[in-house]
Amino acid sequence: MSEPTYKRRNDVRLLTTLDGEDVAHFRLREFENAAGLAMVHPTLLDSLERVRRDLCTMAGETVWIIVTSAVRTEDDLRRLAARYGWTDQGGAVARNSRHLAKFGGIAADIVAVLARNRARVPQKTLGTVCRRHFDWVNDDYNDGHVHADNRHRALPPT
Ligand SMILES: [Zn+2]
Repeated sequence: MSEPTYKRRNDVRLLTTLDGEDVAHFRLREFENAAGLAMVHPTLLDSLERVRRDLCTMAGETVWIIVTSAVRTEDDLRRLAARYGWTDQGGAVARNSRHLAKFGGIAADIVAVLARNRARVPQKTLGTVCRRHFDWVNDDYNDGHVHADNRHRALPPT
């Protein structure tokens, strides 16, 4: 007997409120790692919804934000570094990555596409809009994704 296949893991809509309007364009599963673990800080959801809203306004049509990576365990990070290298050795993976669970789900790697034809929003356009709504953004990756996180606002007040 094999295990049954469980379906709809993390298939939960994430609701937040932007300027008095309820919005829910993301699902928890979009933020899970390969093992299905997911963690989303409320500021991450808020910022992503704001970026989406701005892009839709700019494009005059529906734009989808696709989360390509969010929370990572230390093991996830080591696997990525084995492939892309650590930043202190000239690679692309930061040892203190804001994707790590210890930061509370504040980071996402994203791309954006027009819903109509899946045309990619240019990386620099997405990066510019992300800078309005995230604390920290990197839009210099060769594969075209943008990294965005809320490393400052998620900290307790001092
Ligand atoms: Zn990233």
